[in-house]
Amino acid sequence: MSEEASVRLAVPDIGVRERELVVEALDSGFVSSVGPFVAEFEQRFAREIGSRFAVACSSGTAAIHLALRVLGVGQGDVVALSDFTFIGSANPVLYLGASPLFVDSEMTTWNMDPQLLEDELARRACNGQPLPKVVEVVHALGQPAQLADIGQVCGRYDIPIIEDAAEALGAGWSDGPLSGQRVGSVGKVAMFSFNGNKIATTGGGGMLVTDDEDTATRTRHLSTQAKVQGVGYLHDEVGYNYRLTNIAAAIGLAQLERLPEFVSAKRAIARRYDSAFANLPMVLPPRVMGLDSTYWLYSVLVPKGARDPLLAHLARKNVEARPLWRPLHVQPIFGAHGSVGGATGEDLFERGVSLPCSTGLDPASQHKVIESVTEFFDQGSSE
Ligand SMILES: *Cc1c(COP(=O)(O)O)cnc(C)c1O
Repeated sequence: MSEEASVRLAVPDIGVRERELVVEALDSGFVSSVGPFVAEFEQRFAREIGSRFAVACSSGTAAIHLALRVLGVGQGDVVALSDFTFIGSANPVLYLGASPLFVDSEMTTWNMDPQLLEDELARRACNGQPLPKVVEVVHALGQPAQLADIGQVCGRYDIPIIEDAAEALGAGWSDGPLSGQRVGSVGKVAMFSFNGNKIATTGGGGMLVTDDEDTATRTRHLSTQAKVQGVGYLHDEVGYNYRLTNIAAAIGLAQLERLPEFVSAKRAIARRYDSAFANLPMVLPPRVMGLDSTYWLYSVLVPKGARDPLLAHLARKNVEARPLWRPLHVQPIFGAHGSVGGATGEDLFERGVSLPCSTGLDPASQHKVIESVTEFFDQGSSE
């Protein structure tokens, strides 16, 4: 360890209120998934998103698994989903024996390219090939996807959308057909994650939201071992133990109260980085009129070949940074499945670097990150 304090990538922001509510949960004796904080967290969360129903889950991955299952995805079905994302978006597709079809990103938002999706659906319809049962759209890094366009394409073929909003709690649209809506309120179903590095955390957890009452009821049922109420251990289908605990919900409630504070902190960090980096040879995170990102994980694209030298330089400076995801179409476990495009996702992976952006990042630490990045380009990337 060097003597210099390290600047961490993204650490949780846990305050007094979180501690108070956890103690309250512990003292109440409701430590597991039955307890008042779970229901309260669901109700407040649904209101926050602008959805009718919310079902708290043990993880974001569990919420995606339930969402796919409730939308009828099973053996042999095709699920079209974003190629450039964390693996948690895609693993549940394989849990169900379905086949992922990875759709590449566009450079505007770094999210699913609506045109590629449209062309692929048209091609499949024309050739009599199976259409995806579901389209799963990721709002990567806090940046809303082009969901108005994707929604139009899916509407034409009557394909439901799952929003993977794991990273985008608090983001939304302020222009166009979705103006005024939050991410998670557009798809038939949406999910969020409360893992430790997400914008709001419960330690580990997730949430499924929907406006459809049957979908919410069935999700809740499947998440609690498909136990039929009131008749004594009757289980009418194969379920899961996927509920959030009351202790975790206590943390979630306190975090949700602070969401506006978290979102403005992330946006302020992004603004400062954007202006500090304006003259460096880097592509800055998407800034798209009307698609309001939270900049959950502030990430830039550096020139080809400069990613690893920059990461090494930052590591020497005790600044924690990391590459963006390797796109899913090149992951060995998905090798046999289909993909559309892929060059943009590969480019994002080869050139992408995420920089420290904890909501509690102090100005001195941010200055240190800016200085370290600037120094790297001043010295030339050949060091
Ligand atoms: C974190 C994340 C998930 C999975 O959520 P967990 O709570 O970690 O299971 C899924 N999709 C995306 C895009 C994520 O970032």
